[in-house]
Amino acid sequence: MRFASVILDIPTQALDAPYTYAVPEAPAEAGGYDVEVGCAVLVPFGHRQAVGFVVGLQELPDGEAPAGIDAAKVKPVVRAVSPAYFDEEGAACAQWLSERYLAPLSSCVRLFTPPGGVPRMVRAQAGYWRLEEPAVGEVDDRWVLPGAAFDGFEPRKNAVKQASIVEALQAGELRVAELAAEFGAVSSTLKALEKQGVVRIERRRRMRGMPPGSPGVPEGPGTSGTSGFTPSPKPPLTAGQASALAAIDAARERGAGEVVLVDGVTGSGKTEVYLQAIEAALAAGRTACVLVPEISLTPQTVGRFRGRFGDTVAVMHSRMGAGERYDQWDFIRSGAARVVVGARSALFTPLANVGLIVIDEEHEGSYKQDSAPRYHARDVAVWMARRAGAAVVLGSATPSIEALYACAKDPRWHHVELPERANGRPLPAVQVVDMAKEFGGGSRSMFSRALSRALAEELAAGRKAVLLLNQRGFAKFLLCRECGFVPECPSCSTSLTFHERGNFLICHHCGYRVTAPPACPECGSPYLKKFGAGTQRVEADLRVLLDATPGVGPGVPIVRMDADTTGGKGAHQRLLEEFAAADAAVLLGTQMIAKGLDFEDVTLVGVINADTMLRLPDYRAAERTFALVEQVAGRAGRAELPGRVLVQTYEADAAPIRAAAAYDRALFLRDELPKRRMLRYPPYVHMANVLVWGKDEEAVRTSAAALYEGLAARVRDYGGEGWDVLPATPCVLAKLRGTYRWHLVVKCPLDGDLSGVLLPYFRARKLEREVNVAVDMDPDDL
Ligand code: ADP
Ligand code: ZN
Ligand code: ZN
Repeated sequence: MRFASVILDIPTQALDAPYTYAVPEAPAEAGGYDVEVGCAVLVPFGHRQAVGFVVGLQELPDGEAPAGIDAAKVKPVVRAVSPAYFDEEGAACAQWLSERYLAPLSSCVRLFTPPGGVPRMVRAQAGYWRLEEPAVGEVDDRWVLPGAAFDGFEPRKNAVKQASIVEALQAGELRVAELAAEFGAVSSTLKALEKQGVVRIERRRRMRGMPPGSPGVPEGPGTSGTSGFTPSPKPPLTAGQASALAAIDAARERGAGEVVLVDGVTGSGKTEVYLQAIEAALAAGRTACVLVPEISLTPQTVGRFRGRFGDTVAVMHSRMGAGERYDQWDFIRSGAARVVVGARSALFTPLANVGLIVIDEEHEGSYKQDSAPRYHARDVAVWMARRAGAAVVLGSATPSIEALYACAKDPRWHHVELPERANGRPLPAVQVVDMAKEFGGGSRSMFSRALSRALAEELAAGRKAVLLLNQRGFAKFLLCRECGFVPECPSCSTSLTFHERGNFLICHHCGYRVTAPPACPECGSPYLKKFGAGTQRVEADLRVLLDATPGVGPGVPIVRMDADTTGGKGAHQRLLEEFAAADAAVLLGTQMIAKGLDFEDVTLVGVINADTMLRLPDYRAAERTFALVEQVAGRAGRAELPGRVLVQTYEADAAPIRAAAAYDRALFLRDELPKRRMLRYPPYVHMANVLVWGKDEEAVRTSAAALYEGLAARVRDYGGEGWDVLPATPCVLAKLRGTYRWHLVVKCPLDGDLSGVLLPYFRARKLEREVNVAVDMDPDDL
């Protein structure tokens, strides 16, 4: 007798164990699917049927049942309703994710299924459910090809349309849709031609999500070609690139899941290193998965990979439609795709035989998923590479402190540096502008005199500028515009968050709370500003400034890029093209502009407010500020023209800002690491952030307090040295869309098994109806 472990495809917060079902002896009906690991099955569930995924199969002698299961009560699987979406390895990964991130197994299994492509149960009428096929199935096109009688075709005198169609086909086969676009209604004409044997009509699978002009679906492995793609030439590597490549090749050949951190300044040729490392992996018969931050997944990025590896490149990201993603997923499963380029979810596509996993801009926040399972792509990649005997390549100009720390401590992590740009251009000089002094000079503008002057010079000379308005998070804090003072928590050394409702300041680490002062406690100034200016405001002010600047005027476009202007599909791309096409122009945007922009004629980069992020109540604030300033600075002077960078700040003396301006990472780390160690933050501890939310404020508070009691008891019983459970406090965003949010933090030493200790508690915990609880392991914000 065979038994299947099945995870029901139902949203839940329970750390569910799989259900056991019996596998029917009879083979699948003709055209049906076999019950195998990774497939969707229909199973009885209560009074109805439900869809689930098979995560394990077990064969037992007749009469026996799996441990803890009553054979008499086991119900049989109704039938399999899909092919296998994942294999045993995928099932093992889902299990690991669930235990590592304390996430419901159903949410982990879901990562492996094709987007929009899974059958599901829908409620048809009261009490009646039916199975609905995937919303995005395969689609096909009808193609018209020359038939047997094509060559000798003699149109009748008045059969003009027939003649034109045959003439059009002389150049090669065409889709019915293309013919229709040119000649109008063609179906009856085609039917007539088909009857005479002049043309053949064929249905062919269409792959959504491929660029126009590229070949259709590759038939299988070995049909690779770069036709239809702009080839990207392969330059000889610099010495630094060559040694990075050698380190990657060696790590891959050792096949032990080692990591190579390519620590290279912007423009140092990291992407070229990835390309050649992938080429070597492919030559060795392996495949490669390349993760890129969602925002940098532009046609240009994809083009670089397709230009080298042609139609063996699959692309996967969330801005693609469900149909396109389904086809790319299927293309990967077919084995024809050898390279997958995508956002973090690309890790879970059915790419076989992976030899290399590349994570570009590994410091990026978008590699952490903010819903269950709250995994970090870097950690998952390392786990997968160890299992698959592959290597991981991490690339960044500003590596995360975690990655740098691992390189220093773990012999399986290797650090290679590319300190110079591939074209030999110097990095632009960075000037820090102290805004506190500007204000003293009588100006209340967002643009310092130095930045205004620089804008005027560059724009009048027909060059381009990029302005960054740092707007991460919406937590407000108070800032004295006179002296730069920001109220801080007396015991946590983080800034206090300002709560408009109730006019108080609160520390989100320890709960310390005071009434907001009417004047600056430091200098007595009444100019206490609540920080948080919008891009729209800045755009309006900038317009006024430019219009009043001699030699610039109203003709110079301002391209604004933020969450509002980039909502639509392709909007991001369109704005960048608009900026590229202009002569003198300003690109004004939020964090999203700091990445991947490569415009030759940008000679000025301005950071309008480097310190807004620095003051966020978040242990990573300094690291993020340092990285952002350094990343954005790298956008200037990429080509012939030298660049310059102006960083406006009220914190001119803050270490992250001074360090970024001097491109001095050692200086930054000397300042930052002792603080992290003292305050017990990563990389010196493991952390779990336990999130509690719901519509009923009192229930949320009570539940958070009970969780604190429960977890504190669990940790006490466990008795580990250096384990801490901090009392529950409201989140920085204490209320979001009508939901009240609390959290509490658990910390343990680096060698502590945080997931392992917390897991039994969360498995045993009873779910509440009113309150949601989730665990965020290694949280990105705190
Ligand atoms: P990164 O990914 O580090 O920002 P890229 O790989 O995009 O750097 O390289 C920056 C620029 O330098 C690109 O235009 C690239 O084509 C070019 N480049 C990279 N490596 C070389 C090389 N070895 N010789 C000449 N040009 C190179
Ligand atoms: Zn505090
Ligand atoms: Zn002051």
